[in-house]
Amino acid sequence: MNEKLIEVQNLKKYFRVSEGELHAVDNVSFSIEKGETLGLVGESGCGKSTIGRVILRLLPHTSGQVFYNGENIFNYDEQKMLSMRIKMQMIFQDPYSCLNPRKTIGQIIAEPLIINKTVPRSELNHVVLELMDKGGIRKKLFNSYPHELDGGRQQRVGIIRALALNPEFIVCDEPVSSLDVSIQAQILNLLQDLQEERKLTYLFISHDLSVVKYISNRIVVMYLGKVMELSESKELFKNPVHPYTRALLSAVPNPTYGMHKERILLKGDVPSPVNPKPGCRFAQRCQYASERCFQEEPVLKEISQGHQVACHLT
Ligand code: SF4
Repeated sequence: MNEKLIEVQNLKKYFRVSEGELHAVDNVSFSIEKGETLGLVGESGCGKSTIGRVILRLLPHTSGQVFYNGENIFNYDEQKMLSMRIKMQMIFQDPYSCLNPRKTIGQIIAEPLIINKTVPRSELNHVVLELMDKGGIRKKLFNSYPHELDGGRQQRVGIIRALALNPEFIVCDEPVSSLDVSIQAQILNLLQDLQEERKLTYLFISHDLSVVKYISNRIVVMYLGKVMELSESKELFKNPVHPYTRALLSAVPNPTYGMHKERILLKGDVPSPVNPKPGCRFAQRCQYASERCFQEEPVLKEISQGHQVACHLT
C-alpha cells in the first residue's frame, strides 16, 4: 500500500461572506494511498466536509490542486470530469435526505446504472438485486420506498448506490453519525468488507475519533480549515503530539489511553473562520500558547516517519 491514488496539494476553499472571506479550507495537503482509508477528523465547521466536496469537484476550489492517479483533475473539462465521476463517489451523512422518496429501492440503485449506460436494460434487475445482496438489503425490499426502511438500511442503500458504478474512491462524509451505535458497527463492517473485496480507497470524514480510529489506516486532524496533525492511526492514539489532538483524544472514553485519561477541557469557543487572525489557528484555545503562536503560523513538520504536526512546541 504505497501507491498514491489521491494527492491534495495546497488546497484552499474560501467563501465570500458579508463580513469578508471565510477560510473553510486553508492550504491543506495530504495524500491517500490506493486501498487505504484516510480518516479526516475535527469539530463541526473545521472544513472537513468541504474538503471532500472540493476533491470531488462538487464545489469549486479557490486554489491548489488535486491529483488522481497523478493527473490534476482540476484541469479536466466537464466531459472528462463526467467519466471521472464514475470512479469517485460519495456516501452522505443523512441517508434519507439523499434518497428520492418517490422512487423504490430498486429504482434508486438502478438510476446511476441507467444514466451511465453501464448495464443493458435486460440485465438491470439482476445487477440491482446482486448489489442489494452485497449490501445486506433483502431482495423483497426491491419495491419498497425509502421511508419504509430504518436508518441503517437507508444508509446501506446509499452505500450500494455509491458502489453501483464500481468506483475506486469514495468520500464517506459522516456516514454513521446519524445512526444508533449498534447499527454504526454494522455499517462500518460493511464498508470494510466492501473495501477489501473491491480494493476501494476511502476518505472517511467524521467528528467522532473512536469511529475514525476503528476504520482508518491514517488520520488527519483538522482545526479551522488547517491540518494540525497527520499520522498513522495507531501512532496518533499512542503518541498524540498536537495540543488539539490531545484534547480531542482525552474526550474519547477508553481506559487504555493511560496518560490521556484525564479530560483536557478547551477554553473559549471555536473562533470564526472569517478573516482569520495571523498565527496558529488554535492559539486562542491552547493552554501552551506563547506570543509567537499569535504572530507566526506553525508549519506542518514531520517529527517521525509519517507523523506530521503543526505546532511551535515541536
Ligand atoms: Fe498551541 Fe502554539 Fe502549538 Fe498552536 S503553535 S498548538 S498555540 S503551542
